[in-house]
Amino acid sequence: MQIFNTYTEPLEHIEQKGHTPQLLGYAPDGAPLVSVKSGGEKEPAIFISAGSHSTEQAGVTAAVELIDQLHTEHQVYVIPTRDAMGMNGFAYVLSLSLGEEPNLGSIEDVQAVLREHGEVLYEADETLLVIIGEYGYSTRGLYGRFRKEESFLEPLKGRRIFFPSRAEGVEGTAPCQRAYTLIVSPEGEALHINRFHDTPWAPVEVRCTRRLMAEIQPGLTLDLHEYGGNAFWLSARHQQCDDGQMWEGRIAHEMIQAVAQSGTELAPADYLPGAFFTKGERGVFWLHAQKRGEGLNLADFAASKYGLSFTIETGMQRGFEQRVRAAMLAAQTAVTVFEQRYA
Ligand SMILES: [Zn+2]
Repeated sequence: MQIFNTYTEPLEHIEQKGHTPQLLGYAPDGAPLVSVKSGGEKEPAIFISAGSHSTEQAGVTAAVELIDQLHTEHQVYVIPTRDAMGMNGFAYVLSLSLGEEPNLGSIEDVQAVLREHGEVLYEADETLLVIIGEYGYSTRGLYGRFRKEESFLEPLKGRRIFFPSRAEGVEGTAPCQRAYTLIVSPEGEALHINRFHDTPWAPVEVRCTRRLMAEIQPGLTLDLHEYGGNAFWLSARHQQCDDGQMWEGRIAHEMIQAVAQSGTELAPADYLPGAFFTKGERGVFWLHAQKRGEGLNLADFAASKYGLSFTIETGMQRGFEQRVRAAMLAAQTAVTVFEQRYA
């Protein structure tokens, strides 16, 4: 259960295992964006992705492990991480504008570097937002904090904002170990890589994902995430047809049962991840993208166009290996039930 430190590590790992990744495109820093095909030849295909939020590394390791360990006759396509740049950390993304990686021992160091090299766009409390070169950099997370029309986001329209991971004690995501990527739309809305799936304008990572999906027409999509808590939950998506809806419900039920039986704690009965979810059985939430706004994320998009889809959320407060195993177990369970639909 390897924690990957940089984006090249999972790629090397995958190649060492004998796979030849398919090139989908390049991130703005030139990093190859890839998918890996495994499994059998049966259709419809299964699509697994992770790492759209670079701070959620158990999903990335699980996705890489699943390339070899998922048992299925169906075709499997894996995008092991959707934010190649952010995975390399905050010093790395700063180097794209500074020419070299600064030494960052603490958030105070981040603040000092941003102040020294950046043009300050916004400053309040402990948040400092600057632009350096082609990118915005912030000391703190800005997602959901601003309205669309904020004038200080004007210079960042169509650009990215990075901020450092800050969680102490989370394995795989130490302070500054990852850079969380925000994407500022041409309209000035600051979202992230797991948005823009249904918009003509979208960052390159999303366009690559979208093109792969159009090619493989996945009958099951699993997007591996993590959240800040210590339990496990998943989100399901309403399907276009009754048969699909029945299978979506069945897979959600089997996944959550399997994870609970393995001894992993499920999100408490009174937990609700957001106002745009409705509760199913314990640990299962149905996401309503229209209620959330912000357009479609990967799983929403998959449900609207291709079929069954889920977001799997492991709790970052747990040990890394336990998180990876929970994600893998959920994925394998989903795939086993999915196979019954096409038996
Ligand atoms: Zn996430």
